[in-house]
Order: sequence, then structure tokens, then C-alpha cells
Amino acid sequence: MHIDHIGIAVKNIQEAAQVYELLGLEVKNIEEVPSQKVRVAMLPLGESKIELLEPTDPESPIQKFMDKKGSGIHHLAVAVDDVAAELEKLKKEGVRLINEEPVPGAGGALIAFVHPKETQGVLLELCQHK
Ligand code: ZN
Repeated sequence: MHIDHIGIAVKNIQEAAQVYELLGLEVKNIEEVPSQKVRVAMLPLGESKIELLEPTDPESPIQKFMDKKGSGIHHLAVAVDDVAAELEKLKKEGVRLINEEPVPGAGGALIAFVHPKETQGVLLELCQHK
């Protein structure tokens, strides 16, 4: 397993990307993810990525996060082979989930979030690439 990416809530992708670009990272692609009401920029970093998340709607979970806490680190994503199987395992153990079923994420991935109450405050994303 490895860290797939670290998600960061930002007001503006272009502005937020500047420091990373000075350090030599590159924005590989920007796409909209309607299920999360965000624009997403991925900056590859080793076998992981930095994911910049810009809300596209006041009802976006990212906007709500920023209303409460401001911009900053939002979630940690681990790469898994089979999100659905991991969710079944967690459900059996009574682990609280934000997504009971996988939902489409950026880059064609299947994702699901575990409730931060279960991880002592970390929003954990399970991320399966095709
Ligand atoms: Zn993510």
C-alpha cells in the first residue's frame, strides 16, 4: 500500500499551485469532479500526488470545510486494490463510513471516505485506480 495523495482545500488552484511549481512539481491535469462539487488539480510527487481541491459550488463539501476551518489539508488518501471489498470489511467491523458505496473520484478512480470520528480526526479516503 502507499499514500495515493494528500487532498488540500484551496480557494484557487492556480494560486495554490505556485509554490509547488517553484519547487519543481507540475500540475498534470485539472478536472471537475461533480460528485464532490470541486475542481481538482493533481501534482505528481513520487508515487503519490498532491491534490488541490477548489469548490465549484457553495454546497461543496470542500466549501463547507473551508467555511469552518479555512483552506488547508483536507484528507489523506491511501491506494487500495478494491474499494468495495475494503468497505465491506470496515462495515462488518462497524466502522462508520461517509460513503457506504464507492463513488467516482478524480482521474477515473473509485473512492470512498471513512468517517473522521473513526480515525481521531483524519478524513481518510480509499482510492482505487482502474
Ligand atoms: Zn482525494
